[in-house]
Amino acid sequence: MNKLKHCLIVLLATFTTAFAADKDPGAPRLIVQITVDQLRGDLPTRYRDRLGKGGFRYLLEHGVHYANAHYLHATTETIVGHTTLATGAHPAAHGMVANVWYDRELERLVYNIEDSRYRLLTAGADVDSATEIDPTQKKARSEGRSPAAIQVSTFSDELAILTGGRAKVFAVSVKDRGAVSMAGHAGKAFWFSKASGQFVTSTYYMEQYPKWVADWNAERHTERYAGTSWSLLHARGSYLFGDADDRPWETALPGFGRTFPHPWGAKDGKLYTTLLTLSPAGDELTLDFALELLENEDLGSDDVPDFLGISFSATDYVGHIFGPSSLEAEDNLLRLDRTLARLFDALEKRVGLANTLVVLSADHGAPEAPGALREIGIESAYIDPGTWDKAPAIEALKRRFGVGQQLIEAFYQPYIYLDRRLIAEHDLDQAEVERAVADELMKFDGVALALSSEALRSGAFPEIPLVRKILNNFNPKRSGDIFVVFEPQRFLADFDGLTVASTHGSPWSYDTFVPIFVAGAGVAPRKVYRRVAPNDIAPTLSAIVGAKPPSGSVGELLIEVFEGRD
Ligand SMILES: [Zn+2]
Repeated sequence: MNKLKHCLIVLLATFTTAFAADKDPGAPRLIVQITVDQLRGDLPTRYRDRLGKGGFRYLLEHGVHYANAHYLHATTETIVGHTTLATGAHPAAHGMVANVWYDRELERLVYNIEDSRYRLLTAGADVDSATEIDPTQKKARSEGRSPAAIQVSTFSDELAILTGGRAKVFAVSVKDRGAVSMAGHAGKAFWFSKASGQFVTSTYYMEQYPKWVADWNAERHTERYAGTSWSLLHARGSYLFGDADDRPWETALPGFGRTFPHPWGAKDGKLYTTLLTLSPAGDELTLDFALELLENEDLGSDDVPDFLGISFSATDYVGHIFGPSSLEAEDNLLRLDRTLARLFDALEKRVGLANTLVVLSADHGAPEAPGALREIGIESAYIDPGTWDKAPAIEALKRRFGVGQQLIEAFYQPYIYLDRRLIAEHDLDQAEVERAVADELMKFDGVALALSSEALRSGAFPEIPLVRKILNNFNPKRSGDIFVVFEPQRFLADFDGLTVASTHGSPWSYDTFVPIFVAGAGVAPRKVYRRVAPNDIAPTLSAIVGAKPPSGSVGELLIEVFEGRD
């Protein structure tokens, strides 16, 4: 090679590199935001050796893995986490302060996304209170659902605004709240009705089902599990919990039992569709429906970025019923890994993973079942307010204010709501009553902190990290009067009479800790240990597509996602 030619090549290479460094890689054709309900941050790597190809391994090897992500709010529940993921806002701004709160105008407890104005499109798909095991959904007084109670925009809303409504925005989940939150106000949500065994939606989104949805539902995919069982994917000896299948703290649902194989029963069994959701079958069905959506709605087929939110609920139900350290949870995770592999394979074939930005996180983590901890020598127990001797507290309040227990209008985790009418009638000082009730609560077994909202409003409390999380959760119109925090590893395990193995919802780190993965669309692999928060995701997605951040977003950009993106 002559010298001149060599110089030219070097020069050209330099220019090309410089150009590439300046070049904006542009927006992906499709953004898939996956939420795994109750996937604590340590779980994706706990069984790393036994992950298959193309599922979690795709994210671990090809994505940015944030290994130190924590929620910054105190109520680590499903609608709270999902809405935070969708909006980049804290509950203080997005308004979803808990799965259930007391509505002071309606004077009753309300379920987060209930909306009587928008009925379900399918008759008989309403929550069946006789068989529903999710205690929060049973609080809804109407079958109608909408995102109206979400008070700020979601990333998916901002994408719709940016593209003049041309972006296709969808979300799918077994749980209504897992889909409605991610679809935002502009998108369309589908969720699983245990009563009808179909994926449904409400009149908020459409007046009638697209043909592909009606067809899919008519094909009765749920029935393929009838008469069969959830069995182990691999040889029992290969599991960490292979010798620990039958544990006394696991919840034995009728017919389903505590040990493998877990029979789903007959297709007309009272609990049949519920049992599907308590097993990997729930996620498999969610994915089947999502893939049908991907194809029929033609997502990712042009230069306008589309959005698909998928929330997988099985990890949450399995965690509640059996605990996160159980043979069932272990098998569920390995099967979720296969479900993810099937999703990524379909994305590669249809859109190309190079054109698809995949984000995976969780709405909250999970505590260990107290029995599992005690077995290895760590003290832990459920809390049972039924055993509390409340008489001295009631007596103390009576002596001071002339009224006792009636002061408490409602308690639904994490808030106590006082009867403001009674307080006014007795000419009492609201702040004084809040403080007094909080002081009495602090005396009960298992209560770590009872913090009055008045103390938050007046800043009369040192801003330690725990208080900051309660502040981030504080929405003046929806939050209750006293926030109750139980001691670490102590929680209520009562699902309307059904005792479950474990329940999340606390501000402690096992409940705030979740994974964040961002992969595809040119993102370079990397593991990141700095502390980040799930509400960083929405503004990061906005920046990637060039949209403005959602209206309540207070997250930071996940800068590692941009570094090295080609
Ligand atoms: Zn959840």
